Amino acid sequence: MSLVDLSPEAFVSQLRSLGQHRAYLIHDPQSGQIHRSHPALGELADFLLAGNRDYQQHEGVFLAIGPRSGALFGAFVHKTHRGQGQGGLRHWPYATMTAFLRDGLRLAMGMTRKNALAGLWWGGGKGLIARAPGEGFRDPGHRAELYREYAAFVTSLRGCYITAEDAGTGPDDMAIVHQGTRFATCIPPQVGGSGNPSPATARGVVCAMEGALDHLGLGSLGGKKIAMQGTGNVGAAMIGELLQRGVAGIVASELSLERRAQLMQQFAGAPLALVPAEPGDNSVLATPCDILAPNALGGILNPDTIPAIQARVVCGAANNQLLDDERDARALAARGIVYVPDYLCNRMGIVHCANEQYGQVPHDPAIERHFGRDWDNSVYVITRRALELATAQGITTAAAANKLADELALQPHPIWGHRTRAIVDGLLADQWHLQG
Ligand code: NAD
Repeated sequence: MSLVDLSPEAFVSQLRSLGQHRAYLIHDPQSGQIHRSHPALGELADFLLAGNRDYQQHEGVFLAIGPRSGALFGAFVHKTHRGQGQGGLRHWPYATMTAFLRDGLRLAMGMTRKNALAGLWWGGGKGLIARAPGEGFRDPGHRAELYREYAAFVTSLRGCYITAEDAGTGPDDMAIVHQGTRFATCIPPQVGGSGNPSPATARGVVCAMEGALDHLGLGSLGGKKIAMQGTGNVGAAMIGELLQRGVAGIVASELSLERRAQLMQQFAGAPLALVPAEPGDNSVLATPCDILAPNALGGILNPDTIPAIQARVVCGAANNQLLDDERDARALAARGIVYVPDYLCNRMGIVHCANEQYGQVPHDPAIERHFGRDWDNSVYVITRRALELATAQGITTAAAANKLADELALQPHPIWGHRTRAIVDGLLADQWHLQG
């Protein structure tokens, strides 16, 4: 069986049988080949190089085994011209190494693009912890050990990857990570972090909606009909923002009865219909409306749902909304639906916390400028630019946003240049895989 077909747990056993606890795959910009820590990792290198669309010459993929937990850790560093590879840590179950590697590669590339389009001086990175079957992942003692180990792993990488919160990790976990490494952002407010990013995320998505409406010449949000899937942290804040702008009505689906009751009370008298949903129920996506906002799950824009969508614009906070980036972006365009790429409109989560080490200012201008229309990188301006590029070149909005992002991603940091590449080269020279 190929290494990429193994489960992460079986891969850990394999690595241990080689007497190793760390491994890397590092891109060589000169040859275009991959330096691998062990000859036995050839199958992983081949998997990256053999036309894998999730692999885009990522600068480095680092793997390690948690010393006591035995969990597989990953840090994926994509492009770091703008700064250190920054992106959240996902603690998630993966059936195979293929799934593990794909997720890390794709998410790290997404972070490069999100950070670049947001005008942040950060590159793209992503962390993964493979959640093993039967792992007591809710047990606080186990989590504390796991996140302490992950922090040590991040420290060992000397700052080429900066971690943060993501699916499966929460503020308490990040507090533990931050105790063990300085290379962490999105840490709790009690230790100087920036706190809940969801209101900022919601406001950013609404700015993108306005950009899309102006692009289509449809005027303001006033009087528009909105359909929404999911009314969690972001969705609820978005309802408030949209009502303030005078929308005609919002239809929002939500799994949780408790949440629906709470929002019914909070927005009593507002033109808001809260509809119940079961897991896997995407029927709200077929609501006739001007704007559809997916605010719950990824992968919901797919061949099953796209034909039923009755919105002019799709613009929401959920990550990875397209099940297949190219196919589903084309299907939306073919139906005349303007899709605002998720990583373009939901950037404010990362913007909110990425620069928290620079301190806190009331009504922070470094944050506020993202919501305006003057700054070249604001959500509204970038949304319009991407949509105009798509129209001008006859490409999908996702392809246009990727194009803008990929150009910006290659701008070197104005002070530090491409320093992170030097960090990666240092790890290679110092045989990182044999240390620790
Ligand atoms: P959340 O967990 O607080 O809210 C998600 C809500 O969706 C929950 O209330 C859940 O019950 C509901 N839901 C799930 N499946 C549903 C379904 N089939 N139909 C109807 N409702 C359903 O999450 P959140 O923080 O609000 O984030 C929402 C999405 O936005 C996620 O994909 C997240 O990754 C993404 N995102 C969030 C932020 C942020 O700042 N929180 C930033 C960027 C991206």
